[in-house]
Amino acid sequence: MADKRDYYEVLGVSKSATAEELKKAYRKLAKQYHPDLHPDDKECEAKFKEVNEAYEVLSNADKRAKYDQFGHAAFDSSMGGGGAGGFGGFGGFSDMGDIFESFFGGFGGSRRSANPNAPRRGNDIESNIVLDFMEACKGKKADIKITHMENCPDCNGSGAQAGSTPKTCPQCQGRGTVTTQQRTPFGVMQSQKACPKCGGKGKVVENPCKKCSGAGRVRTTVTKTVEIPAGIDDDQTLRVPGGGDAGINGGPSGDLMLNITVRPDPIFVREGYDVWTEIPITFAQAALGDEIIVPTIDGKVKYTVPAGTQTGTVFRLREKGIKRCQRSGRGDHYVRVGVEVPKNLTKEQEKLLRSFDEAMESKNYQKQQSFFDKLKEKFKQ
Ligand SMILES: [Zn+2]
Ligand SMILES: [Zn+2]
Repeated sequence: MADKRDYYEVLGVSKSATAEELKKAYRKLAKQYHPDLHPDDKECEAKFKEVNEAYEVLSNADKRAKYDQFGHAAFDSSMGGGGAGGFGGFGGFSDMGDIFESFFGGFGGSRRSANPNAPRRGNDIESNIVLDFMEACKGKKADIKITHMENCPDCNGSGAQAGSTPKTCPQCQGRGTVTTQQRTPFGVMQSQKACPKCGGKGKVVENPCKKCSGAGRVRTTVTKTVEIPAGIDDDQTLRVPGGGDAGINGGPSGDLMLNITVRPDPIFVREGYDVWTEIPITFAQAALGDEIIVPTIDGKVKYTVPAGTQTGTVFRLREKGIKRCQRSGRGDHYVRVGVEVPKNLTKEQEKLLRSFDEAMESKNYQKQQSFFDKLKEKFKQ
């Protein structure tokens, strides 16, 4: 196996990074390397996977603590794959967890030893989607491929092969914990730890289900159809209830947290629920007035620019913006017109423009007139 980069290095954060800092760094990188933005770029795809793997570990307090102590070795054996080997590996993993818990008083593991058979909610999972500007404005049904833990279909989550049921663990009599004495650098310590035979469940599976090796859940990649609401914006996260990992012992599923990236649009700029467009008009259109075509998210709209419109003037088209999320009504559409000064004039055009300019009077250029008047006033003496 190729040498793996340090997970903190992958995310570009310090070892003491807070959960919030990790999340921020992860989201930035996940966006940067998202395969939708770099189709057919193998290097980006590899980076994207690396970033996801690092975050999956560091965002989970238990896994992070183990990683901090044992490095990649904490996961190489346990993530070695499915089948019987994977199950054996899992046993090794929980031993490490036990050592950890015996030193640090069950940090992160106390819930498990409290009642191993209590229903627990599955973990939330995270995924990313890139939307076009219009898709974000209008909303869409999106098919999203996610990989999460599902209850094993063969054993319905029991972990026992069809026709058999889990038995009460003979080592802990179903309590899920055993009391042990351990020689440590700090002396002999007595501690309660998860029963090594049943892994804290209080039940053992004599004939483990072949599909899930007795774990009761299997990692599955599924396509989920998600209703993306109209008006969602870049950098928001959509919570999809029940889209995460299946719960344990009949607990509810976690949620899918879908991070939204919106591609910039060449003509529309979003500000909250308002949309802005810059439209260049000619000098003649500005002076004489004209009907112009304004693109909005609903399609083209006609708008009459009045005679004498100055460059930079902003017009508002009410309620032509984006639908507000979880509220009624819409934002507005703003048009900023810019007068384009003509370039590359021919001799003939130049002549026409000069004679036009000579025909102008001070009342045609009131701004200029008022500026000169102020100037005169200022330098009177
Ligand atoms: Zn199964
Ligand atoms: Zn047991």
